Amino acid sequence: MIDPEKIKLGISACLLGENVRYDGGHKLDKFIKETLGQYVEYVAVCPEVECGLGIPRESMHLEGEPDDPRLVTTRSKIDLTRRMANWAQKRVKELEKEDLCGFIFKSDSPSSGMERVKIYNENKIPVKKGVGIFAGIFMEYFPVLPVEDEGRLHDPVLRENFIERIFALKRWRESLKNTRAEGAFCIFIPRINY
Ligand code: SF4
Repeated sequence: MIDPEKIKLGISACLLGENVRYDGGHKLDKFIKETLGQYVEYVAVCPEVECGLGIPRESMHLEGEPDDPRLVTTRSKIDLTRRMANWAQKRVKELEKEDLCGFIFKSDSPSSGMERVKIYNENKIPVKKGVGIFAGIFMEYFPVLPVEDEGRLHDPVLRENFIERIFALKRWRESLKNTRAEGAFCIFIPRINY
C-alpha cells in the first residue's frame, strides 16, 4: 500500500535492481533503494525498455553534437533518436500526473544520463558533454524539479543538498494545498543516516 506521506521520486529502473539493462543486468544502488527508499516512493522508468527495445538488446551510445545528439546502436548503427524522443514526449506527460518531487537518473547512460554522457563525434572520439535523450526531454519539461544521478549522490554534500530540495518541495506543495496554513511554512527534514 502506498504511503500518502511519502515523497514520490522518479528513478532509472536499473538503480532499483530491475534487470532492464541491455545485457539483462541491473545497477542496483543499495543506498538509493534501501536507505533513501524508506522515505520515498519510487516511480521506476526504463526508457529503453518502455519504448519497446526489449531485453536483451544491442548496446547504444550518443553520436553527433552535444546540442543535437543522436541515439545510435553501437554495432548496427540504427538511429533510435526519433523513437526514443517520441516515447519520451508522451512519458513526461504521464509523469506529470505523478506529482514527482525529483528524479534520480542513471549516470553515463545515453538514454538516462543527466550530464557528462559520452558523445562520439564524426572522428569517433568521445567527449563527455552529452545528455541522455530521455533525461534531456525530462529536464526540459520539468525545469525546476530537483534531479541527480546515482554517481553524484555518492558525494555527501550533493546528497544532502538533493534530499533537502526534495523535502522542501514536498512541504511547499503541501503548504499550498493547506488553506489553514496560510503564511506559515515549516520544513521538517528527517535525519537520514548514511
Ligand atoms: S540506464 Fe536507463 S535505459 Fe538504461 S537500463 Fe537503466 S533505466 Fe533503462
